Amino acid sequence: MENYLDIKGRIFDIQKYSIHDGPGIRTIVFLKGCPLRCKWCCNPEGQKFEIQEMNFAGKKKIVGEDVTVREILAEVKKDMPYYMRSGGGLTLSGGECLGQPEFAVALLAAAKSVGISTAIETTGFTKWEIIREYLKVTDHVLMDIKNIDNEKHQKFCGQSNELILENARKIAENHKDLTIRVPVIPTFNDTEKEISAIAQFAKTLPGVTKLHLLPYHRLGKDKYEGLGRKYEIDELDLIPQDKMQKLLEVAKKSGLNCQIGG
Ligand code: SF4
Repeated sequence: MENYLDIKGRIFDIQKYSIHDGPGIRTIVFLKGCPLRCKWCCNPEGQKFEIQEMNFAGKKKIVGEDVTVREILAEVKKDMPYYMRSGGGLTLSGGECLGQPEFAVALLAAAKSVGISTAIETTGFTKWEIIREYLKVTDHVLMDIKNIDNEKHQKFCGQSNELILENARKIAENHKDLTIRVPVIPTFNDTEKEISAIAQFAKTLPGVTKLHLLPYHRLGKDKYEGLGRKYEIDELDLIPQDKMQKLLEVAKKSGLNCQIGG
């Protein structure tokens, strides 16, 4: 039988010292591949599972690398003192980290076996049986709920939200630490009505207390060009600070602990 440390997965980045992807100081491992196609996605190089070439800052870059659990664990362990002091750990992100269950679950289990706290950032678009395996070795779940309106969800994200909303409930019922995150995108979900609908939905999830509003930014824009793709929402303006504050107030009416960013 294959040693679980030898299981391979495909990643496209590792970021260290993150303070926005779960509690404390964390190392983020970005897994390649995502079933959604959100128009604002700031990691378009993480959407396809295939290894790609991207022009970035005037240079050609290969995006995607096959690695073993053992290799990633060794890298993640280097920052153990930071995790211990801050309550941080390992966060799996993407792309969609639920897309490579064998590798991801083995990596999360390996991290936990050496005392590293684990988190996943996900949009929850997969079979419940798969998510259930992740939850066994995950301490914190950060889950995106992007819009309650399914038509808009399909138009802007390329997939229905039905499975996502269903899985959000199941995760909440089966897991003690779930944070709901909402990327706030102009013309997609930046009205008081839409944010209120998401917050009210989140409020119905058992045990959920935290909701984070993540303002739209354009940090991934140049990557689209580098991949030979069009950045479809180029004409959208950033959301003014006072509007974000107003949306925050609306979200807070749900009684959840809400914040901008995180
Ligand atoms: S779910 Fe996340 S990674 Fe996937 S396309 Fe949307 S923003 Fe990008």
